[in-house]
Amino acid sequence: MKVRSTVAKVTVCVPCFNEVDTIALLYRTLVGVFNDIPSCDFELLAVDDGSTDGTLDVLYGLNAEDSRVQVLSFSRNFGKEAALMAAIDYAGGDCVVLMDADGQDPPELIPQMLHWWREGYDDVYARRTDRGREGWLRRQLSLLFYDFMSKMTDVDMPSDVGDFRLLDRQVVLSLRELREVERYNKGLFSWVGYKKKELTFERANRREGKSHFTLWKLANLAMAGITSFTAAPLRIWTLIGGVIAMGAFCFLIFYIAKTLIIGDPVQGFTTLVSIILFLGGIQLLSVGILGEYIARLYSESKHRPMYVIKEQTSTIPSRENRVNDKY
Ligand code: UDP
Ligand code: MG
Repeated sequence: MKVRSTVAKVTVCVPCFNEVDTIALLYRTLVGVFNDIPSCDFELLAVDDGSTDGTLDVLYGLNAEDSRVQVLSFSRNFGKEAALMAAIDYAGGDCVVLMDADGQDPPELIPQMLHWWREGYDDVYARRTDRGREGWLRRQLSLLFYDFMSKMTDVDMPSDVGDFRLLDRQVVLSLRELREVERYNKGLFSWVGYKKKELTFERANRREGKSHFTLWKLANLAMAGITSFTAAPLRIWTLIGGVIAMGAFCFLIFYIAKTLIIGDPVQGFTTLVSIILFLGGIQLLSVGILGEYIARLYSESKHRPMYVIKEQTSTIPSRENRVNDKY
């Protein structure tokens, strides 16, 4: 088993998008938690994802007060997956904690995560036993999504697990090598493998403000997850197409026989219209699904970076200057 140093540098990474009311509180809670763990050097890496509400000023204020607070700021809103990627790219600690800014991920769980990390686990993730205030539809859709992912993909993705987790440096280095733009981090955490440990926690409600994830944004994320981990939806259409073609063939034989035996009075208009509409619908759906994959190919083929950094606090080394990093 791996032996981990008793004194560890822990980088807590927080993506922030319009979190002016919550981020300072989170910082103070984190300081409180880490004061009780003397064997750890703590630093906070906040990634400002193009906030428009003064979050960046608050972050620079915290940086002036405490140099352990480091700030990366995007040139616009690139989304949480991109913010997490930047955190993974720039985090310098022996282990890295990823968490939300809004207080829904309890910092009090970090000591337990560190304990399991010291025991040799590389990815200690937190599963929520209660999802806080959340709509029925959102809950059902997310259950459906996890069910689909677990049946259709090779990677084992636990349900009710968010991005809140502690990763060993080695996992972070592996994640840096995965540069896909249409990113679904939760899937990639599973994909890279390593020794995992699950903890559970009760998810609180957001401290201030409201969730930035509308049903539409979540649907897009789910689509990114599905298309980047499985081609099953494409294969399903091959199957459906085959079944329909076989059915059509049987139908054809039946009608030819019927015409030969009892003649051919003109009838069956309704049947005809239903069949045409049904097949038309199915074809459009399958072209749409094909389109989803092609759109992803297209955006990956452009090789654009996942995010653009506008400014950063001077203590963060630029990517080019880092030593001992694979990326
Ligand atoms: N977030 C982000 N960019 C976005 C949307 C959200 O960096 O475009 C951050 C947000 O500041 C928070 C975390 O992602 O720290 C989770 O967001 P939120 O609480 O809105 O999502 P939910 O808890 O509903 O999943
Ligand atoms: Mg939240």
